[in-house]
Amino acid sequence: MVTQVRQEANVFQSAIQRLDLAAKHVDIAPETIDRLKRPKSLLEVSIPVRMDDGTLRVFTGYRCRHDDTRGPAKGGIRFHPDVSRAEVQALAFWMTCKCACVGIPFGGGKGGVIVNPKELSRLELERLSRGYMQQVADFVGPETDVPAPDVYTNATIMGWMMDEYSKINRKRTPGVITGKPIALGGSLGRDDATGRGAYYCIKEIEKRRKWNPKSIRVAVQGFGNAGQSVAKLLHADGYKIVAVSDSRGGICSDDGFDVPSLIKQKNESRKLQAVYCQGSVCELVPARSITNEELLELEVDLLLPAALENQISASNAGKIKASVMVELANGPTRIEADPILAERNVLVVPDILANAGGVTVSYFEWAQNRAGYYWSLEEVQEKLRKIMQAEFNAIYEIMEQIKTDMRTAAYVHALGRIGTALETQGTAEYFSGS
Ligand code: GLU
Repeated sequence: MVTQVRQEANVFQSAIQRLDLAAKHVDIAPETIDRLKRPKSLLEVSIPVRMDDGTLRVFTGYRCRHDDTRGPAKGGIRFHPDVSRAEVQALAFWMTCKCACVGIPFGGGKGGVIVNPKELSRLELERLSRGYMQQVADFVGPETDVPAPDVYTNATIMGWMMDEYSKINRKRTPGVITGKPIALGGSLGRDDATGRGAYYCIKEIEKRRKWNPKSIRVAVQGFGNAGQSVAKLLHADGYKIVAVSDSRGGICSDDGFDVPSLIKQKNESRKLQAVYCQGSVCELVPARSITNEELLELEVDLLLPAALENQISASNAGKIKASVMVELANGPTRIEADPILAERNVLVVPDILANAGGVTVSYFEWAQNRAGYYWSLEEVQEKLRKIMQAEFNAIYEIMEQIKTDMRTAAYVHALGRIGTALETQGTAEYFSGS
């Protein structure tokens, strides 16, 4: 128990250490950094849910508002057995940095429920989702804190939560949550936005490194929403996707996989299998089974961690062969692994930039809901591309200028924006007239 508490505290404590590393390169008041080291508020709730067999189960949930200086707090809700107070705080902190990193007018928030949603029936899941919203309804809102999907939550769940919030407030309020079904006010292009944002970053690397996609071998850890979308886009451009995995393990093939077939199979059977499909007929293709740990150490050029936190640590960072790693997951790399990867010249495109496509299109969705005016898919994708491209290149230049790694550069970039906003409200220096 003690170890568990200590480990939990570590996720948040190690996340905020990155502030000190970046602060050395930014002109920022120390008190601004101190403020960012603590979340603004953290709500813990109990959610009683009537199960299908008539029994009552009480789930624990959280919603954390890390900072809202630049705009309403923004960030997903995770349904996962490993959700903890510290994890939610770390994820909310990353959201503050992420929104600042890509310059969208939001602060950072995050929520979660300790649950394995795979064990619930659809109706139990709906009761839990509505129950969560009932408990946090006074804490969230279009002007205060705007949730969205995260690990093991999806558009349907967002739709239930929006409906529940609207009922509680007796007013249809689509802007309270993003990532909703299109029919309920969702935005076109939100579904694959996280993967697409990372894809736009990879296209910039392709230009800078003069990559020929056909000779680039890619491994994807995690084959959920983000992992599937990025793999599909890269595969369509000719990249060789040689390994993919899900929570149960992975598959690997030197010839590369037909990604649309893998996606079809995974989404229909919930199983990750090496298949090639023509129409509705799928046949097995040769592949090797690998573990999630082995996937990270494969001989590939591009590694895409798209699962959970803390996958790359001091013990495996030295074994990574990829020259580029693009973090689609939040916090996949432990802080001790960063210098090892830098030493080995691995270019790491950090989470707060690489997976910011999701929240960027969430911002578009929120703006469309408030305007009551909806955009075409082309418009959404073009606006996303422009933001990702501009912010990627701005961060790349900071990295070269101050001779650091791309993660520190991304935090420098984000802290510049957060610092300006916080300092505009006044600091000790401001009040002492210096
Ligand atoms: N859960 C996603 C993230 O971690 C999306 C958040 C959002 O759209 O607000 O970035």
